[in-house]
Amino acid sequence: MRNEHRGTKNERVARNSTTAHPRFSFSILHFSFFILPLLGFLVLLLDLSGFASAQAALRVGFAETDITPTLGQQPVYLAGFDRNRKATKVHDPLMARAVVLSHAGRKVALVSLDLVGLFHDAAERVRKRLLGFDYVLVSCTHNHEGPDTLGLWSPFETGIDRAYLQRVEDGAVRAVQQADAALRPAAAAIGTARAPALVRDSRAPFVKHDELIALRLHEPGGAKTLGLVVQWNCHPETLDRKNTEVSADFVGYTIKHLAEKHRCPVVYLTGTVGGLMTSLGLEVKDATGRPLADGTFEKTERYGRAIGELADRALRGAKAVRLTPFEVRTRTVFLPVDNKTYLLAAKIGVLKRQMYLWRDDPAKAEPTKEIPAKERVCIRSEVGLLRLGELKVAAIPGEIYPELVLGKVQDPPDPGADFPKAAAEPGIYAQLRGPYRMVVGLANDEVGYMIPRRQWDERPPFCYGRKQAQYGEANSLGPDTAPIVCGAFRELAVGK
Ligand SMILES: [Zn+2]
Repeated sequence: MRNEHRGTKNERVARNSTTAHPRFSFSILHFSFFILPLLGFLVLLLDLSGFASAQAALRVGFAETDITPTLGQQPVYLAGFDRNRKATKVHDPLMARAVVLSHAGRKVALVSLDLVGLFHDAAERVRKRLLGFDYVLVSCTHNHEGPDTLGLWSPFETGIDRAYLQRVEDGAVRAVQQADAALRPAAAAIGTARAPALVRDSRAPFVKHDELIALRLHEPGGAKTLGLVVQWNCHPETLDRKNTEVSADFVGYTIKHLAEKHRCPVVYLTGTVGGLMTSLGLEVKDATGRPLADGTFEKTERYGRAIGELADRALRGAKAVRLTPFEVRTRTVFLPVDNKTYLLAAKIGVLKRQMYLWRDDPAKAEPTKEIPAKERVCIRSEVGLLRLGELKVAAIPGEIYPELVLGKVQDPPDPGADFPKAAAEPGIYAQLRGPYRMVVGLANDEVGYMIPRRQWDERPPFCYGRKQAQYGEANSLGPDTAPIVCGAFRELAVGK
């Protein structure tokens, strides 16, 4: 097709030259020695402009690598619930799934791992090995049925399995490299679907982030799907705390459903999972209407497929979306560690993170080897804002509460809260102006829960007249995390 097209253009150029200058008459010899090279030059110019526009087109590539742990050598401890939960069997594989987007000489990679989380230093090691990228987002699905990659659920004496962590990092790097090698021209469509019945909020106030976002990358002008990116908000913990089989939890079934139906790779990104978005206690029924129990593969599969069907619904209503140009903004943030258990874990070497001395400045802090008894310490993390044309992506380094994403922090605050006078944090989505937006949690870090400061409730009296504190604070760095992360994000969004 292209050659024929060029041929006609050549002919037209030749015809025009002669009609525009009827006084000149060229011999065949002149034509061959003079006009032909000139036409060749014109064709080359046309080629170059074609080359330039091809370069300016969006290209995408997908790839995945297997990061399933090997059982039978040393014990593998499963993360997310109680300590020392030893894996007995592999039920389904754990994967690192990557998509690379390229445009006008810029490249962005998103990689999602079927794991509970990775700390910032691990994400940074992955990034350092991937040269030529403007941004690499290393995120985890927050899977509660995979190995402990944070060192928080293994016996104190063993801690993190460094060899496995190395395999995970290698797998993430390889997935991105292979996705990069698979780049090809693409166009995109985006759709959303809401399903309040498909997520349970286990902590008051009850605010759900119940919107799924599905992105379809396809051949330009063609029907062939190159890959899907799906973002949903729920803890992958349907198999619950007694399961001892390695599994990707419901996410594995969501991906299986979509990959089979659309015959393409799928990247699943976990969004808002704080506050607490879960499938535990959520009613899921089988085909005959029988409720399925938590902790079973039946419920996990049924739920995972329901999320796959929700993605299908989003894709049926998908509209063309422009994903170029790219713009990346990131900011280093220091977050104070006030959680006493985390401090103790850091002191005894279970929590392996570089600590810094907190000096009331989320933008800078000095590293420290010791954890001083009377000073506050902090950790280093990162907040990001990625603009892919009409789609804006908030990269949040942990488990953010839906209230903070959707701008629904409780108002007025409950008088039982520990800081009822605290200002409501600026909502993440309110900062993301434009037609489409998405939040990716556990992005390049896992710092735990980000709780609205005015909903922080550790001390009596407790909110809502409760006799006991709700679950959440125990897995948060402290009440300053949310204000700092949301404040840093607002500064990113306004371009400060
Ligand atoms: Zn969690």
